[in-house]
Amino acid sequence: MSLPVDPDVEYCDSLRGAEPSPHLMQAYAREPVVFEQGKGAYLWDAEGEAYLDAIAGVAVTKLGHAHPEIAEAIADQAKRLIHTSNLYSIEWQERLGQRLCALSGMQRAFFCNSGAEANETALKLARLHGYRRGVVSPKVLVMENSFHGRTLATLAATGNPAVQRGFAPLVPGFVRVPYDDIEALQQAAQETRGIVAILLESVQGEGGVRVASTEYLRDLRRLCQENDWLLMMDEVQAGLGRTGAWFGYQHADVLPDVVTVAKGLGNGVPIGACLAQGQAAELFVPGNHGSTFGGNPLACRVGCAVLDIIERERLVPHAAAMGRRLLGSLREGLADQPAVVAIRGHGLMVGIVLDRSCTELVTQALTDQRLLISVTRDKTIRLLPALICTQAEIDDIAGRVVRLVRGFLRVAPA
Ligand SMILES: *Cc1c(COP(=O)(O)O)cnc(C)c1O
Repeated sequence: MSLPVDPDVEYCDSLRGAEPSPHLMQAYAREPVVFEQGKGAYLWDAEGEAYLDAIAGVAVTKLGHAHPEIAEAIADQAKRLIHTSNLYSIEWQERLGQRLCALSGMQRAFFCNSGAEANETALKLARLHGYRRGVVSPKVLVMENSFHGRTLATLAATGNPAVQRGFAPLVPGFVRVPYDDIEALQQAAQETRGIVAILLESVQGEGGVRVASTEYLRDLRRLCQENDWLLMMDEVQAGLGRTGAWFGYQHADVLPDVVTVAKGLGNGVPIGACLAQGQAAELFVPGNHGSTFGGNPLACRVGCAVLDIIERERLVPHAAAMGRRLLGSLREGLADQPAVVAIRGHGLMVGIVLDRSCTELVTQALTDQRLLISVTRDKTIRLLPALICTQAEIDDIAGRVVRLVRGFLRVAPA
């Protein structure tokens, strides 16, 4: 695979080699590689070396890199109008709201710029819902191993002490329960006054690719109905086709009250949305919430183009088929490895759980296999390939991951 070098582009020499910059806050442990170009499931570094992308910008570039229709939508809209503010009507925002509602079963959308903001919006809806009911100290049930973002409220909702360390006092009002355990949740509910909502992911991504059971989601729906709690699904990572359904909760055939999306909605252009139906959709009145950039014409037009392409190319059933194929190949290729504890997933959200820490695999995958992966929760290799990956590309990903893991387990101490 050769680099589609653009002779007119002057590549920035100072970035080659990628020493950590003295001018950037050290919030990230970055790999020492700079990608300069992409196409579909491939990326090229400064030396023209090709890499296969099995992480898609962490579930963002689901149509692959440099998609020509997305590039065209961005360029055309940029020439017309990028931003006017939410003081005025925005046609593309209304269109995207209508499309997302039709796909999700929701009735109204609020647009923002990220997953954390979408969840902040959901949490504000939960608080307002409690306020209207006269709940003095509202509580939201949240899950162990969950991930909802890095703002103060969403990190408090997140079930990972590493995300919270150093940021006390945490935003109050969260009660944590084990994931996918209905008895534990009922127990907590009995002991807690003022519950207004449950917030969870249909598949926990950062938490190690854990899939909630169909029965669990149905039980939650029923409990929320009986108690007038909002069922709020964080579909930021699992949503928009990745699991082989438009939304993860649709596998269980339940309708939440609130749904959040972001990541893949703009294929890399920042956009997020909080969707709601029923009473939750009517909670906000002017003055309750807002965003300067949220739902601007550029981001919303790109969002519409992303949905168009997913529909036209039938990428949702494709993701289901490719996910099954990837899981099958990984299970076959690693079947004789006792150190592989589990291989699980839903659609193109796949996790390989090892019995030992394997964070160094991210670097090894780059250098030894020219492959982009992520490792989450220390021991879980996570794959989130683009939905446009062909069968051959999925097989290539599986082959590289199997070689990587087998090689690693030969030498890595247990
Ligand atoms: C990534 C993620 C978020 C946070 O999204 P940002 O755009 O990084 O703020 C929230 N929830 C889930 C499930 C995620 O995977």
